[in-house]
Amino acid sequence: MSDFSSSSVPDLTLYDPFGGMRFGPQHCFLCGTSITPHLDSVPVFADWLMTRYHLHERQIKLLDMSIVAYKDLRIACCSTCRSQHVEPLEKQVAATAAQGLAGWRTLDEKTLFLWLGKMFYGVLVTELLNELNPLARPQYPLAENAQMLRRFQAFFQTFQALRVPIEFDDFVPASVFVLEAAPAQDDIAFEYDDDLTTLVFSIKLNETVLTTCLVDNGIIRQAMRRVYEDAQRPLHPAQIAEFKARVYYAAYLLNVVPDYYARTVHPGDDHLVYDSVIDDVTGDIFNPWENSAYGQSLLEMWKRWQIPTEEIMRDPQQPLSLLYDAEGQPQELEHYPAE
Ligand SMILES: [Zn+2]
Repeated sequence: MSDFSSSSVPDLTLYDPFGGMRFGPQHCFLCGTSITPHLDSVPVFADWLMTRYHLHERQIKLLDMSIVAYKDLRIACCSTCRSQHVEPLEKQVAATAAQGLAGWRTLDEKTLFLWLGKMFYGVLVTELLNELNPLARPQYPLAENAQMLRRFQAFFQTFQALRVPIEFDDFVPASVFVLEAAPAQDDIAFEYDDDLTTLVFSIKLNETVLTTCLVDNGIIRQAMRRVYEDAQRPLHPAQIAEFKARVYYAAYLLNVVPDYYARTVHPGDDHLVYDSVIDDVTGDIFNPWENSAYGQSLLEMWKRWQIPTEEIMRDPQQPLSLLYDAEGQPQELEHYPAE
């Protein structure tokens, strides 16, 4: 007799919340199943993370300038997805984080992608729901931009790998960078920033800085290969800020949205296989680089050091770099500004 109820074949059905724009508290964010609103949820920033960095009461400013505490950032999640998918992921990452940089460097990329993606998506959904509030006046409406929605949707297809076993054939969904902050002048234990429109997310946990573009199929990392190689050393926080400015600006220039296709499932299959196509026939992968716009990105990321535009753009052909010296060689930076 076969026992179908304890079948070990995983559910390979994909879920797409963008079809009906179902982001509310009535549906699990991962599988879409109906749940008890506000009762079934998981924190966007996991409890272990909030505890370790004392984030519970700390506040985040949303796009409409409203303020929310980290502990109140939660996303609707059914008990199955919570116990089977979200909690095991958080447990694995918490153990990784306890080992510091060495742990992060050995964590596989897919897990990193899913973990960063979960926080990104949690913040995104919070913003999208906020936009639906008639009293909100978002500065940059996310739901009204067709290309942006396509990007979110493409990201969500690969992000389904948090719930459904998915193998990415011959591609990585995201660019993920792991950087090391040198202890000198680095007194910030936790920091996070993002750009929802370009799907860039960055988080700093002690000496480890993780930065990602979640829907570029690794194109930005490929384009920044040399800079990333040169950055495999302890960096001054202002150098890390420059690296991030490059990622943010590259993501802004990225002109393509990957398409993903799940191969046909056959009886007995225990996972899905995705192929990806980037339609680059219609245009360039990146829009043209403009130094003045990149300078804006640097200005933003260097706010802490108050480096004025005049200094950043002293040479309009070559905006200020702290990663490289005038000869284009990787630069050591112990103090900034120099003492
Ligand atoms: Zn679920």
